Amino acid sequence: MIKPDGVQRRLVGKIVQRLEEKGLRIAGLKLIRMEHKTAENLYSVHKGKPFYDGLVKFMTSGPAVVMVVEGFNAIEVVRKLMGATFGFNAEPGTIRGDYGCSKGFNLVHGSDSVDSVKRELPIFFTEKELVAYEHPDLAWVVEEPERK
Ligand code: UDP
Ligand code: MG
Repeated sequence: MIKPDGVQRRLVGKIVQRLEEKGLRIAGLKLIRMEHKTAENLYSVHKGKPFYDGLVKFMTSGPAVVMVVEGFNAIEVVRKLMGATFGFNAEPGTIRGDYGCSKGFNLVHGSDSVDSVKRELPIFFTEKELVAYEHPDLAWVVEEPERK
């Protein structure tokens, strides 16, 4: 997800481009304005933490771009592209490391495990909104056993 700071700072194209150039496949994509309840649900694991209320307020403060991204080891790959949680710690070359220096305003969210994907994906997408297709250069992006 491209968080509201990423949209307001006009970084949608650059962030999507990084995912595409890495060789990932976008299976779903849309611009949303997150409801308060949705933000609370997305971040329910952080309920009670000092940053939780501010985080919910931030996530509902403007449009965000939600995506379903697929590829070989996609969860790990996307998390690496995102970089460490806080922009000031994140390595240069990562999205957060290149574009952010804040704790909370860190541009992107990405599911961190298969269980998180199972919980988070249906919050934003129905089955019907996901599109199956194959990029013609896939054979040059990943080796045969890695393709599925
Ligand atoms: N966050 C924050 N202050 C903190 C920790 C987290 O504002 O001290 C926000 C930040 O936007 C982060 C989100 O809460 O992306 C969720 O935190 P998590 O530790 O799950 O980081 P992430 O998985 O996004 O790297
Ligand atoms: Mg997290």
